[in-house]
Amino acid sequence: MKKRIVWLVALAATAAVAQQPAPVSVEALKDGVYWVKGGAGANTGFIIGKTEVLVIDAKTTAESARAMLAEIGKLTALPVKQVVLTHSDGDHVGGLSGLPAGLTIVAHANTRRDMEEALKDPKMSALQAYLPTEVVTGDRRLKFDGPRVNLLYFGAAHTAGDLVVHLPQQRIAFVGDLVFVGRDPLIHRRKGGTSFGLVKYLNQLLKVDADTFITGHSDPLTKADIKTAVASIEERQAKVKGLIAQGKSLEEIRAAFGLTAAAGQPARRFPSLVEIIYQELTEKK
Ligand SMILES: [Zn+2]
Repeated sequence: MKKRIVWLVALAATAAVAQQPAPVSVEALKDGVYWVKGGAGANTGFIIGKTEVLVIDAKTTAESARAMLAEIGKLTALPVKQVVLTHSDGDHVGGLSGLPAGLTIVAHANTRRDMEEALKDPKMSALQAYLPTEVVTGDRRLKFDGPRVNLLYFGAAHTAGDLVVHLPQQRIAFVGDLVFVGRDPLIHRRKGGTSFGLVKYLNQLLKVDADTFITGHSDPLTKADIKTAVASIEERQAKVKGLIAQGKSLEEIRAAFGLTAAAGQPARRFPSLVEIIYQELTEKK
């Protein structure tokens, strides 16, 4: 009996370890620009300026955001004064409450709107003190005492509030969740996202003077990776359009893409790209 209990405890410990995210770690890109992997939530970034540090996105939990601050503290004694949010998803903004109070928080107006909406859930109340303090609705140069930072906005895509943080001199762009690798893009229709908007957005991104693209959930990407992502979305859009023109139902279209869930499989957390495209093409304008 005793042996069995020991084994069960060991098993529980293994399960707990398996759920732990990888520790937060930092990779230098160029000229004081860094990207941050690990912790709970999406990749983030930071830029060490002359008198201040700018952070891009905040991970999911206050704990992971504090772990990121600790990593920044190993590289510089300068204070973090500003955060730019690439969009409003929890894995990018949930950790804001782990950052110092009184920060300048910059986001697109639609991201602030989404965050205000999220505050209706009492579980999110820690974000009340961390709503964006400066909203952007189009391209703008950020006030920052360091390398030039441009904020770019090309319309609704993953959400209606996706901002790109572009460093033209370093040829680096932080693009949040505009590009996924090895999986379909997520489109949050509830937040105004659209697959056709995403293709437009990515085609604009391809014209931006940059060769390193930092995303929320992949290794750094190149323009070739973005082109591949665009082609794969466009291919799906064309196929869904063709099937709708043939009078196929959503069920038949799902089956054509092999998306029919096997019995007993859990439901997907988010609708597939094919379903999103179908909804976009069939909704009444
Ligand atoms: Zn996202």
